[in-house]
Amino acid sequence: STVLQQMLRQLDTAFSKFFKGEAGYPKPKRRSRYRSFKYSPGQVKLDGNRIYLPGIGWMRFYNSRPIPTGFTIKSVTVRRKSRGWFVSIQIEDKSVPLPPVKTTDEINPNCVKGCDLGINKLVSTSDGETIANPSNTKNYKRQRRRLKLRQRAASRKQKGSNNRKESFSKVASLHERLANKRSAYHWEVAKKLTDGTDALVFEDLNIKGMKSRCKPKPNQDGGYVRNGQSAKRALNRLISEAAWGELVLKVEVVAGKSGIAIIKVNPKHTSVECPKCHHISADNRDGEKFLCTECGYHDDADVNGGVNIRNRGLKQLGIDPIQLPSVRSRSVAYGQGKLRPWK
Ligand SMILES: [Zn+2]
Repeated sequence: STVLQQMLRQLDTAFSKFFKGEAGYPKPKRRSRYRSFKYSPGQVKLDGNRIYLPGIGWMRFYNSRPIPTGFTIKSVTVRRKSRGWFVSIQIEDKSVPLPPVKTTDEINPNCVKGCDLGINKLVSTSDGETIANPSNTKNYKRQRRRLKLRQRAASRKQKGSNNRKESFSKVASLHERLANKRSAYHWEVAKKLTDGTDALVFEDLNIKGMKSRCKPKPNQDGGYVRNGQSAKRALNRLISEAAWGELVLKVEVVAGKSGIAIIKVNPKHTSVECPKCHHISADNRDGEKFLCTECGYHDDADVNGGVNIRNRGLKQLGIDPIQLPSVRSRSVAYGQGKLRPWK
């Protein structure tokens, strides 16, 4: 019965979103459109590697992580994914409250990191740390090629056939694997970034806007001239693969556990502004190098972006951005730091 109630609750949120103008009118959906259902607290029982799901009964499952003592089950979601059925158990321990977020007085300006999100380097911080983007590794490129091959093979199968269905499930399965790996890597990066900091500053990126299409350029004959969309499409794919939004969400979760503040700042001109004299010009940046055309200040371009972001974050906190000496860029790329590449 509660599973059915969940359905009504979902319908209710869909309608209230519609009335608020946040979403369109809810569409009727087939049963097959749904891939998950939820149980409310107090219904599901656990016993070692067995789980009791009301209406289904006792089932065996792989218990990936035992529930620590003191925690109670809040809700249970059963999900169908391409690689099988999964159950996620939300747990809560009310006796351990989250530490409060650090206030401005508790934040040491030296322990504030600005994080510049990018494509070539996933993150470059104001401390000169860089975190590699797994999309650039050989291994990832191989996976991407495999995905392309599977996608092509699947779309050549006859529509509506079981063969096609099976083929597409292989595509989905590879997508899922990549997503899992990305997620695991992001958690590691989140841990790395929050380590030893009081506050982290990120750009408040409009990722959807960044992925927008190029405007069509009409010519006199009623046709169109090239507008650079094919190059933009490649960039859009890289933006999607970097999944900055997902990374920031994970950083927020890890930071919340130790009261680290997360600050979002305006991203405008962070890569071309001089942190010393605040001169803004596209000429300041030449690829990997940053050289201010006004005062001659120079630094690694990515580190400079991080420094600008940190300074904006400090300003937002009401702390005067101090000019820390420029740091030599060190990388926490594969094999050097603790972060392991994808297998
Ligand atoms: Zn300058």
